[in-house]
Amino acid sequence: KTVVIAVDGPAAAGKTTTCLALADTFDLRYLESGRTYRIVAYEAIRRGVPVDDRSAVVGLCDRLIDESRTGNLFTSSRYRPQELRSNPVDLAVSAVARIGELRGRVTELIHQWARVQARCVVEGRDIGTVVFPTAPAKFYLTAKPEIRAERRVRQEGHGSYEEVLKDVIRRDQADMSRPVAPLVPAEDAVEIDTTELSVAQVVGRMVSVCRD
Ligand code: C5P
Repeated sequence: KTVVIAVDGPAAAGKTTTCLALADTFDLRYLESGRTYRIVAYEAIRRGVPVDDRSAVVGLCDRLIDESRTGNLFTSSRYRPQELRSNPVDLAVSAVARIGELRGRVTELIHQWARVQARCVVEGRDIGTVVFPTAPAKFYLTAKPEIRAERRVRQEGHGSYEEVLKDVIRRDQADMSRPVAPLVPAEDAVEIDTTELSVAQVVGRMVSVCRD
């Protein structure tokens, strides 16, 4: 049976950085679930599929799965990170992620991927609540929006602070208020506010929780 560590939280809370550190420490495979929502949003824009047309978006997702060599969008190397993190994709992804049927597809893809891993760390918004509700270790990372925007701007080296802050707040609100799988901490998640913490401190806490 696969051992899963679930890491959830709002945009730019430090999930990717800390997941990579955990993966390194405990020799885990790492999955960034937001990537698949981004791939669907990116392809919808590219192929002219309106992101608020639910059945068209689900149909597009099925087509993408069919077209991908392994049948799993997570292992597709066709997409460059810059493409998936562009402004238009940031804007479109929230609409895509509201679609319950699409979320079901993505959850199935995550399960498929995880089934063949011994131990993994999975990052997202609903991993501890919906995708792996029985995960033995769950984290919910947060930080003040201003700090998250500041870190994102510094890390990406482009974009204005005001624009990034606006996007971070907009996506958080969309993720928290959607009818399916809204962003909330799992009841048994360890919540870490990273506002005043360094990466090393956050990772240190996560590692000690996992060792317990
Ligand atoms: O993690 P990232 O910022 O790349 O995720 C992009 C978007 O994908 C999020 O704003 C959210 O709407 C959606 N998402 C989600 N569930 C996940 C992962 C991402 O709804 N498990």
